[in-house]
Amino acid sequence: MQYREFGKTGVKVSRLGFGAMRLPAKEPDKAVELLREGINLGINYIDTALYYLDGQSEVLVGKAIKGQRDKVILSTKNPIEDASGANWRKRLEKSLAKLDTDYIDFYHMWAINWDKYVNLIDVANGPLEEARKAKEEGLIRHISFSFHDSPENLIKIIDTGNFETMLVQYNLLDRRNEEGIAYAKSKGLGVAVMGPVGGGRLGAPSKEIASLIPQGTKSSAEMALRFVFANPHVDIALSGMSDMVMLKENVRIASLEEPLSEEEKKILEDILEEKKRLAELYCTGCGYCMPCPNGVDIPANFTNMNYLKIYGLKEAAKNGYNKLKEENKAAENCIKCYECEAKCPQKIEIVKQLEETVKHLA
Ligand code: SF4
Ligand code: SF4
Repeated sequence: MQYREFGKTGVKVSRLGFGAMRLPAKEPDKAVELLREGINLGINYIDTALYYLDGQSEVLVGKAIKGQRDKVILSTKNPIEDASGANWRKRLEKSLAKLDTDYIDFYHMWAINWDKYVNLIDVANGPLEEARKAKEEGLIRHISFSFHDSPENLIKIIDTGNFETMLVQYNLLDRRNEEGIAYAKSKGLGVAVMGPVGGGRLGAPSKEIASLIPQGTKSSAEMALRFVFANPHVDIALSGMSDMVMLKENVRIASLEEPLSEEEKKILEDILEEKKRLAELYCTGCGYCMPCPNGVDIPANFTNMNYLKIYGLKEAAKNGYNKLKEENKAAENCIKCYECEAKCPQKIEIVKQLEETVKHLA
């Protein structure tokens, strides 16, 4: 296992973090065994959250670390439900009880955006004040955030100077936070990333992805992880692991001293740029064609087609399409009113492309 200094926190973390959101919760003994094996294999960072697995994740993590608390760096998250510091504190106490521990190493303001930061977090008697008190009391050791917002707002949150580490989405299909990650690093924050295999999308077999570098990799998941580990600004990548096979394979990849050589990085960079260009020729995702009067999420349908056409991710594309179908946003809902086409700056024949999407993914 490789280890990294986690920003300026003085903590050394394993490159691979155990995301505890996909544990086999219906088989608690198995889940505990899996977490313990992860620790045995050198993982020292476990990440959970108050509501993962219907609230069971923290309990399972608590059981797994019993008797070896000092070996583990514990991360969990507080959902910011309102601007009340007192309520925030109650949720902290709940997590401490479920984890059966006296302290949390990295305590996250969960899934924040700029609006939440300004209106609910950094306010009088709010969560940030309460977090500082909890830190003084030794209940938490570092104040962190996880984030879902625009790259511009990520920079603003980093610039508040109120956080020591952050957790953001990053993978080879979604590089929107790449600049923010480098910026955070330059400001001394520890950087953890979630979704290194694109929430499972990159876990499905794809020859195109697995062979992005000349020597090829065993799987698309390996390629995806090596891509994330090769970014010098990423300290730790969290993977939500659900079985021993996945755990051992991820540990193997996280143990590579050089996830990608300089030459491989350059080749990969060029190919990804080219793929991005191809994807944007098709649809940039600008959303100018929206809203569709019949509810079709046009760019989301085309994103799935890109997964198929450009990255060869058939399973991910089909799953994505089915999800849109459940939400009544799929291409097959198009009634060919042609309202959208005139609004597309790329002059995409949207109706025709939606028909194509239905043909391949429905
Ligand atoms: S043509 Fe189809 S996708 Fe475009 S606005 Fe009309 S119904 Fe929506
Ligand atoms: S306007 Fe065109 S490029 Fe923009 S999201 Fe719609 S289809 Fe894609």
